[in-house]
Amino acid sequence: MEEILKIEHLSKKYDDFTVLEDINLTVKKGDVTVIVGPSGCGKSTLLRCINGLEEINEGRVLLDGEVINPGDRNATKSREKIGMVFQSYDLFPHLNVLENAILAPMKVQKRDKAEASEEALALLERVGLAARRDNYPRQLSGGQKQRVAIVRALMMHPEVLLFDEVTAALDPEMVREVLDVVLDLARQKRTMLIVTHEMSFARAIADRVLFLDGGNIIEDCPPDEFFVSPRTDRARKFLRTFEYESVDKA
Ligand code: ADP
Ligand code: MG
Repeated sequence: MEEILKIEHLSKKYDDFTVLEDINLTVKKGDVTVIVGPSGCGKSTLLRCINGLEEINEGRVLLDGEVINPGDRNATKSREKIGMVFQSYDLFPHLNVLENAILAPMKVQKRDKAEASEEALALLERVGLAARRDNYPRQLSGGQKQRVAIVRALMMHPEVLLFDEVTAALDPEMVREVLDVVLDLARQKRTMLIVTHEMSFARAIADRVLFLDGGNIIEDCPPDEFFVSPRTDRARKFLRTFEYESVDKA
């Protein structure tokens, strides 16, 4: 199968502190890669290095064989091919849903307003928000805002989508509606790297699970293997933090 994203010997430091050390990873087109690991292990940093939001100390990231290098004059073009959705949907408060969705395609990609609007409406329909096109972000729930943020990312026609804990800030009853949209994208064979603490979702959606700890990828395997029989003690310990034994309430 076709390789789309390649990370070679990536190291990332903040001052003297090494967050990521010699990370090597090849992602196949259409694959869903879920990245899990304890808080502070570098998951967000890894995604940010991939889409060029962070300077890399060593190594390189390639998309379709093209190096993505911050400071490189091609960096902006490459970054456009990678869409990212964060925990906090940073929609523009003064723009309505439709305007939020078409702003970057018009400004950055110089697309025609009518054409961009048509695509945005089709995508909003797909995530169940077509009726909300004229609403402002303050009029939406967290789950609705996050679905708009996903539509906004899709409008740029990214080749790879990065999701960084997109449901972490949501009330529990809104988690599902957002994860369902991500599942729909997986069915469309979108290439995605997903950081999440939703373990049953991770297991359901992943083609491959990476467990990150201490600056390294220490497990890289299919979801059933990772969730049923992880190889390392560190992964077992991590997975146990999501489980509860029966509690003696007496
Ligand atoms: P995760 O997303 O897995 O919780 P992060 O990638 O956010 O972890 O952070 C990894 C480590 O790098 C943490 O120890 C964090 O404190 C540190 N870190 C993250 N961003 C910065 C920064 N801008 N400056 C200094 N240290 C940072
Ligand atoms: Mg993070």
